[in-house]
Amino acid sequence: MLYGKPMKRGSDIARSGARKYRVYTRKDIGLIPQLRNLSVTDRIAMEAVAAVLPFRVNNYVVEDLIDWSKIPEDPIYQLTFPQPGMLSPRDLARMYRLVRRGASQEAIKAAGCSIQYAMNPHPAGQRDLNVPVFDDEPIPGMQHKYRETVLIFPAAGQTCHAYCTYCFRWAQFVGVDDLKFASREADKWVRYLKEHREVMSVLFTGGDPAIMKSSVLRRYIEPLLDPALSHITSIRIGTKAPAYWPYRFVTDDDADDLLSLFEEVRGAGRHLALMAHYSHPRELETPIAELAVRRIRSTGAAVRCQAPLVRHVNDSADSWAQLWRRQVRLGAIPYYMFVERDTGPRDYFSVPLARALRIFNDAYRQVSGLGRTVRGPSMSATPGKVLVDGIATVGGQKVFVLKFLQARNPEWVGKPFFAKFDEMATWLDELKPASGAQEFFYRPELREIAVARRAGQEGRETAPA
Ligand SMILES: *Cc1c(COP(=O)(O)O)cnc(C)c1O
Ligand code: SF4
Repeated sequence: MLYGKPMKRGSDIARSGARKYRVYTRKDIGLIPQLRNLSVTDRIAMEAVAAVLPFRVNNYVVEDLIDWSKIPEDPIYQLTFPQPGMLSPRDLARMYRLVRRGASQEAIKAAGCSIQYAMNPHPAGQRDLNVPVFDDEPIPGMQHKYRETVLIFPAAGQTCHAYCTYCFRWAQFVGVDDLKFASREADKWVRYLKEHREVMSVLFTGGDPAIMKSSVLRRYIEPLLDPALSHITSIRIGTKAPAYWPYRFVTDDDADDLLSLFEEVRGAGRHLALMAHYSHPRELETPIAELAVRRIRSTGAAVRCQAPLVRHVNDSADSWAQLWRRQVRLGAIPYYMFVERDTGPRDYFSVPLARALRIFNDAYRQVSGLGRTVRGPSMSATPGKVLVDGIATVGGQKVFVLKFLQARNPEWVGKPFFAKFDEMATWLDELKPASGAQEFFYRPELREIAVARRAGQEGRETAPA
């Protein structure tokens, strides 16, 4: 009988493809050779937008992912490079004037910050409602919104190999310090998790935790493998590194160390899942991107894929169908299609729910059952993850059929509820109950949860030391 030879880690193809990471930020826009043909006006406009929204790309994104003969429409260019339409005309004009007249960095930064604050940097009650409390102290760098799953934001993982222009985490990258979730307190997390036996899954997120050196990531992950935390059955890493810098898993100095860490998780009897953010099939087209997925999977880790549906980047059924087919071919698992959140440059990116549903269904029909593991379009909103499951006619009225995939109260999960159909609505808060009721069924309880949380926090702040 033939058993396949185990995959050799340091394969020759991999080694010969090593690549030095080079990053470009706002001050380097002029150094990107592919942008030399941009008019001065366009360059200034780009710098103006980049002073408000996070901008960072690297040589792989610039050289291998963007098709420069197709800009500005190229989807990866739209995904990573600031576009004038991402700011309101008024904000754009204000920033443009500052950059053009060579205003000081402080003046540019201050103007940028004031525009950021007006862009809802922490949507869905992230700051107030999700930070857990232990020994009467909030635990920074941790969020516990859904019973089974805890999110951890390691302090050293609050950046990415490149930034997505649509990112809802952008407030963390642009120097708005008091908005930053971060923590160096791994032992606090472990103490919390020891007392919370209902938690099954820990999800490291950021930024991008895969930006950290393997040795640093190890310091966060290894404590979770303690037998005293046997209720933690899975560890997830939310990352866009397989798309933006696949060398992280193949040829970077500590790539093999990272894969060994993944194997250790399996060795400790837990499951490791890379929650890989792929926005466009192009990101899975290069040989290095394919190799990254193969190497991750060779450790026993799963690659589950998710991304938001974003206008200008991936708002076509064919893009998604191709993306899911490529994922299935590589043994990766399509997981979520998100609706773009109510933050940042959302007017530029948002897709109405009705259109999102059409795109989802058109793509879903084009893949086999192995690709239909994907769920969407899904909104990560204050009460939970709300799936737009379909459009139906109930009592002669056209409605959206909605359903919680995750909820602050687990009782809400799985119950269908109906909203009046609205061709233009782009988010949950624009929908009205189909029944004519004032509000959706979960609202009164959600208010109670919010009041209780805020009272708890105020109580702490005013209590004598
Ligand atoms: C999506 C999400 C999770 C994970 O949910 P799953 O359905 O288990 O993938 C956990 N916490 C928060 C806050 C989330 O938004
Ligand atoms: S990789 Fe993730 S965290 Fe980083 S910019 Fe993109 S969406 Fe945001």
